[in-house]
Amino acid sequence: MFEGSGFQATYNVTAKKTGDVKAGNRYFGFDCSACHARFAVWDDPGAGAKPFTSKRPCVFRVSCPQCGADRLYRTDQVQPFRA
Ligand SMILES: [Zn+2]
Repeated sequence: MFEGSGFQATYNVTAKKTGDVKAGNRYFGFDCSACHARFAVWDDPGAGAKPFTSKRPCVFRVSCPQCGADRLYRTDQVQPFRA
């Protein structure tokens, strides 16, 4: 799919552990494509005011903290949410 296109950089990122996610804080994360659990990857410094942006299209490789599935996600799959 998006691998090998030659245009997109792939970044390995690490999901926050459940214990590191504070209720009420804002995060950017993904919905796991295997188990559909939502997990946080980054703190949202804008507290929901700004959408996630990247300088150019890229792909993130991250393991789901719930089921351990190691999957690729696109920038447009980033989910802003409040824990
Ligand atoms: Zn999962």
